[in-house]
Amino acid sequence: MIEFAPWPKELGQIYRQRGYWIGRPLCAGIEAQASARPEAAAIICKGRHVSYAELDRAATNLAAYLSGRGLGRGDTALVQLPNVAEFYIVFLALMKLGVAPVNALYSHRQIELSSYADQIQPRLLIADRAHSLFGDDAFLAQLQALIPNLSEALFLGDEQASRSLTHWLSRDASPPPGMAPTPAHSVAFFQLSGGSTGTPKLIPRTHDDYDYSVRESVRICGVTQQTRFLCALPAPHNFLLSSPGALGVFHAGGTVVMADSPDPLSCFDLIARHSVTMAALVPSAVGLWIQAAETRGAPPAPLDHLLVGGASFAEAQARQVPDKLGCRLQQVFGMAEGLVNYTRLDDPEDVVFTTQGRPISPDDEIRILSEDGSPVPDGETGQLAVRGPYTFRGYYLAPDQNARAFDADGFYFSGDLVRRTAGGNLRVVGRVKDQINRGGEKIASEEVEHLLLRHAEIRQVALVPMPDAGLGEKSCAFVVARTNLRGVDLRRHLTGLGIADYKLPDRFRFVDDLPLTAVGKPDKRQLRAQLELAEKPGATG
Ligand code: AMP
Repeated sequence: MIEFAPWPKELGQIYRQRGYWIGRPLCAGIEAQASARPEAAAIICKGRHVSYAELDRAATNLAAYLSGRGLGRGDTALVQLPNVAEFYIVFLALMKLGVAPVNALYSHRQIELSSYADQIQPRLLIADRAHSLFGDDAFLAQLQALIPNLSEALFLGDEQASRSLTHWLSRDASPPPGMAPTPAHSVAFFQLSGGSTGTPKLIPRTHDDYDYSVRESVRICGVTQQTRFLCALPAPHNFLLSSPGALGVFHAGGTVVMADSPDPLSCFDLIARHSVTMAALVPSAVGLWIQAAETRGAPPAPLDHLLVGGASFAEAQARQVPDKLGCRLQQVFGMAEGLVNYTRLDDPEDVVFTTQGRPISPDDEIRILSEDGSPVPDGETGQLAVRGPYTFRGYYLAPDQNARAFDADGFYFSGDLVRRTAGGNLRVVGRVKDQINRGGEKIASEEVEHLLLRHAEIRQVALVPMPDAGLGEKSCAFVVARTNLRGVDLRRHLTGLGIADYKLPDRFRFVDDLPLTAVGKPDKRQLRAQLELAEKPGATG
């Protein structure tokens, strides 16, 4: 069994008694659909329709193959796939087997993948030959040198049958004999933390807790068999996976339509072609859709429900959604660590346009705390702390980080600054975590700073967010260098180390020194203020 920080026994009992944790592995919902409506379309990807029966069959084939290779409950896997049907088939196969994956983003590179592998010590890698890291076996060999356990590797697009993911998905095989259902209280998979520290952290999610968040999301968002859901952001994101995401759609028996990106023109085309009814976007993508709607007309009529979350959504833009995009808006404020808030479909307009909603569960315990740790009254800003039936209790193997992120009562501090309205809805107004939210992709400043400091000519560095009209925020690195350096040198340095492109600083500012706080740390508030001033119309800085 994979070790993780469990909920205290008394709380677990309450969550079971109240019907939140129902002892069901995450594969059960899809399996039920496969027997009830085998011919219904589960996934549409690049014109290919995958029925529930085909989804279940392909996953069973892969599970049978992997079981024959000795993989099973308690093992882990590192998976990196683009937005293709195989992403969900592999996920289902691993859920059947009880193998817990990390689903890395397709934009992740050596630094992220090595760090995840180091943490979970996977026995299996599933990746894509079309990805720059896996065109040959050099990076696989590096990973294997780091992880002696890593004995199995399958690739999308491998020419050799024995290593081809497609081959093992399509080769008919029986379910592994004697496979007992995976215990629902065990770790189903590791979700990715947006992070605020030097290394990317992992969030263990159990079958019980994740399944509950999916079932409730389905109810709150009104997902049904008729739902055709557009997945146009990276599929592993918690928002796209479970809020209500693809797992919610599969639970309800609807169809997931996959897109490579939220580019409005290709998405509008998919909406028309496949009668998409529901989509989930980050605010920066909503901006692009509104622009496209203004010049080319609203998205096709089948789209009637847009979920928006992942980053701060300006009220002015929220109010434009019904008119410009011709659909209902539902705001989402969620996190891979657990807590998800939604505005409700029958909320008054004001709530939908000006808040990020309220929690899924009556047992989501929310505290909004001032700097001294005392609760603030409604309407005042404080730090969000939460515990509940689907909010994790500790990062994987990160005791120091956990000591900082949780209080003695097991409340998790998300690093968000929120206000609660009199009606009980939350408004996200800022954050205290040292993170940049670049169009919904989170960048832990410390991770990038540590990598920049590996450059011999850098003395000091501070990465801070700068306002951006398109993405909401971009990143700016303030650098104190020993010699004359250029941004291009530092970008090359980071690319050489192998980080995801979205983490590369959008701007470098070379300075003689950094302003410091009273305790001698770089004063990021002052640096941010400098950038905000420079962005103001008429500023010359
Ligand atoms: P992730 O774990 O990547 O889903 O990121 C979760 C974080 O994204 C939250 O802790 C917030 O900082 C931010 N976030 C998510 N949804 C919203 C929202 N609707 N408004 C503002 N920030 C959000």
